Parts: sequence; C-alpha cells; structure tokens
Amino acid sequence: MTTPSHSSTRALFDTQHKASRVHTVVPLALRRDRLLRMKALIDDHSTALAQAVQKDFGVRSLQLTEIADLFVLRTLLSHTLKSLPKWMKPQKVSTPLYLQPASAYLQRQPLGVVGVVSPWNYPVQLALGPVITALAAGNRVMLKPSELTPHTSALMAGLIGQAYAPDEVCVVQGRGENDIELATEFTSLPFDHLFFTGSTAVGRIVAKAAAANLTPTTLELGGKSPCIIDASCNMEEAAIKIAHGKLLNAGQTCIAPDYILLPKGKEAAFGHAITQAVARLFPTIAGNPDYAAIISQRHHARLQAMLAAAEDGGARLQTVNTGGVAVEGSRQMPPVLVFDAPPDCKLLHEEIFGPILPVVPYDTLNQAIDYINARPRPLALYWFGTNIASRDAVLARTVSGGVTVNDTLMHIAHKNLPFGGVGESGWGSYHGEAGFLRLSQQKPVLVQSKWARGDLFYPPYGKRFEQVMGLLRQFV
Ligand code: NAD
Repeated sequence: MTTPSHSSTRALFDTQHKASRVHTVVPLALRRDRLLRMKALIDDHSTALAQAVQKDFGVRSLQLTEIADLFVLRTLLSHTLKSLPKWMKPQKVSTPLYLQPASAYLQRQPLGVVGVVSPWNYPVQLALGPVITALAAGNRVMLKPSELTPHTSALMAGLIGQAYAPDEVCVVQGRGENDIELATEFTSLPFDHLFFTGSTAVGRIVAKAAAANLTPTTLELGGKSPCIIDASCNMEEAAIKIAHGKLLNAGQTCIAPDYILLPKGKEAAFGHAITQAVARLFPTIAGNPDYAAIISQRHHARLQAMLAAAEDGGARLQTVNTGGVAVEGSRQMPPVLVFDAPPDCKLLHEEIFGPILPVVPYDTLNQAIDYINARPRPLALYWFGTNIASRDAVLARTVSGGVTVNDTLMHIAHKNLPFGGVGESGWGSYHGEAGFLRLSQQKPVLVQSKWARGDLFYPPYGKRFEQVMGLLRQFV
C-alpha cells in the first residue's frame, strides 16, 4: 500500500519526475496497459469500492456509487481506450501560402507528472477520472484523495499500490487533521499540471500555490447553479427531474441545481409538484438506504445553521419529509424548500451542497437573467420549458460551465461534451478528448522544405523584398 509520510511525498515526486524526463516517449501499448490495469482494478473491486464509500457516508447506496462513480469511470475508460490511437496521432495542419512548401503538424506529448487533488462527494469518480485522463495522455500521476472519505481513500491507495509502480501512479494520504499540512505540501510540488476538484475557496489557495511554480492548473470548482423554470414549463415533468438532480447524493453534487428561479405566482404549484416528486423517488427519507446521508456532523450543522439564519430573516421553510424511521446518527436530512429567503442570507450566496432548495420568483425573464449575471458564473445552468425564444435568450445571455435543457445533471454524462467551470466555478475542462488535450502538450512543429525561399525575406532589404511583399500582400 502506498501511504507515504509527508517527508516522502517529495521523494515520490522526484522519482516520478525523473522517470518522466527519462521516458519521454510513452507508446500506445504502455498507455493501454496502464488503462487496462485501471479497468481491472475497478471491475475486480467494484463492490469493495462501493462498500467503502457507503462506510464513509454512513448511508449511501451501492447503486448510487455504481452509477455516479463506477459507471462514469467505465464509460470514460472504454471511450478513452477506443479513441486513444486517434487522439495520439500527430494532427496535420494546413500551411499558409507564404510558408509553403513547408508542412506543419501538432505533436501530442505527455506533460510529465500530474498531481490530482480530489474531493469526498463522488470519491472514486473524481479521484480516478482525472488519473485515467492523465494516464491516457502518457503522464505519471500522484493522487491526493479527500481526508473525509478515509475508507475509500485507503482502499484506492492499496489497490493502486498493487496495480502500479510508485513511479507510474501513487497515492498520498493525510492522517485526519494533518491532512491540510499534507495538502499544502502536495499542492506546492512543481507538478507539470495540477488537477484540482473541490471548493472555490480552496481552489483559490491551490491556484496561488501552483502559480509559485508556474504550474498550470485545472480547477473543477463549485458554486451556485441556477435552475430556471420558464412560464412555458410543465411543472410535474420538471419537478421529478429537479428533485432527482437535487437529491442525488442528498444535494452533495457539484452540479446539483442550487436554487430555483420561477415565475412569480408559481411557488405553490412548484412546492406541490416537488413534494409529489420526492414521494415518488423516496417514499421514506429517514432510514431509506437510497437517500444518502450528509458526509459529516460539521457539514450537517452548517446546513442547519444556514436554514435557521434564513428562517430568522423571515424565510418560510417547507420540509418535504416523507417520514420513515431514523437511523441513530445517520445524518440523513430531509429536503427543505425555502421561500422568501432574505436577499442577504447565506443560502442565496454560498454554495448549498445539501438538500435545501431556495425558490426565487421573477416577474420577467430579463429579471431572472439579470439575477444570474449579477452573481459569479455558475458551474451548471438548467432551463425547463417549451418556449424556444426564451430558452435561446437564456442560453445566449448567460455564461456557465455547462447546460442541460429540460433535465438536470445530464450534460456531465455525455462523453463528447467537455466538462468544466468558468470564472469562479473553475477553469479548464476534461472528459473525452478535451481531457486528453488538457493534460497533453500540443507541440506545434514546422518542417521546412528544401525548396523553401525564406531567403527572399532576408536582409539586405531592397527591390526584391518589396516585389515579393507586394505579391504576397495580395494573398493574405
Ligand atoms: P474542498 O475544497 O474542501 O477539498 C477538496 C480537496 O482539497 C480535498 O482533497 C482536501 O483535502 C484538499 N484541500 C483542503 N484544503 C486544502 C488546502 N489548503 N490546500 C490544498 N488542498 C486542500 O472540497 P470538498 O468539500 O472535498 O468538496 C466539495 C466541493 O467540491 C464543492 O464546492 C463542490 O462543488 C466541489 N466539487 C466540484 C466538482 C467539479 O467537478 N467541478 C466536483 C465535485 C465537487
């Protein structure tokens, strides 16, 4: 098992770094072999991984980990294995007349050593997804998973230690409260690329640490993803999809709809439709193994404090509790709709990351768009309705990391759509070829021809230069 002490983290990095500079060419066969080892790791240990996640959460179904962690990785692996020969090929580019008969292409090369820092909410997918992407691009990888999922992190470390040499892939883990110290040391290493998934607040710290080494980063962050209900929307159809997107993993999903924008006067209809939708998905909440628990007591207390502060400020809370028998200490929290939240309350400003859904009414679509644009750019945006003109107005006038129309979450599952944030929700995207390119160097190469007449532009400048330039100007 690869669980090095802090002092050995640097030594592991040095080993990977040295190997990456010696073995600069990473052929297709080796990349495929590394990916197939990851496939075997996931296939052979899928139940153990899902059980570890369940242990870390207290309540979280094995099925949720199968679909949201393991299935995502399986599709990523299969798409990557199929596409890799094409992605690795040099990409020929056309050459402008003034440089002909030279030829040019883009050579796709490994960057070297990629650091991956991952969060707890989908602890397998968000750790191994970037690792798979980095391996496909021919890199070596160091992974630092979250301290909040110790069983999952320890299992991944053990399995990776068995499947890979430490100079190929390794895992470094903290020990509880010491993790921040390790995380700080880890993100200060001069990686060739640092891939961070986590909160916007920590993303700022990580970006600064990486900047000191001029290490490029991919930041997959969070934020408040709006969900717009258009006047043309069928409320029942929208409600089931919103309830599913919001309550998957009890709202602990980076692209969960964070708040609802809906036409003024539709609040009661929405409350009713969501209540019915929740009852369909979760006939009980307490004790229901399909309804995930909040990850820790600290996170649970934070959500309760946000609710209490909103209520103190005049908000009306509607708890959607379908009942059930609570499991002692399980931290399962029923969904809560929040109406009339005071504009300055945390619920309307901080990412919620739990089963709380504030409802913000609007008079006109312009008002809804202005509301979104007055805030940091979101990771995801959802729109429900049938009016194409208002849909297109929202799509044209808002900027977000990604969008799903008439559903929630689904854009993340499309293998040919890059996934990432914009502005405060992050930068850089991955999944599919976008991820391969993010973690590759696309080296532009120009091959000069022996017939080239570059000498026509050499000094001393004179009549010949003027004639050639005069001719060329006609072709640009
Ligand atoms: P977090 O930012 O608290 O932690 C993420 C990782 O950063 C963990 O491994 C943690 O140990 C490490 N870390 C913590 N402090 C650090 C420091 N000072 N320096 C370096 N590393 C540090 O996030 P979290 O609570 O684990 O996850 C929830 C957040 O992640 C939410 O904001 C959510 O929206 C976001 N998220 C984003 C995506 C995405 O793809 N965009 C996916 C999942 C989660």
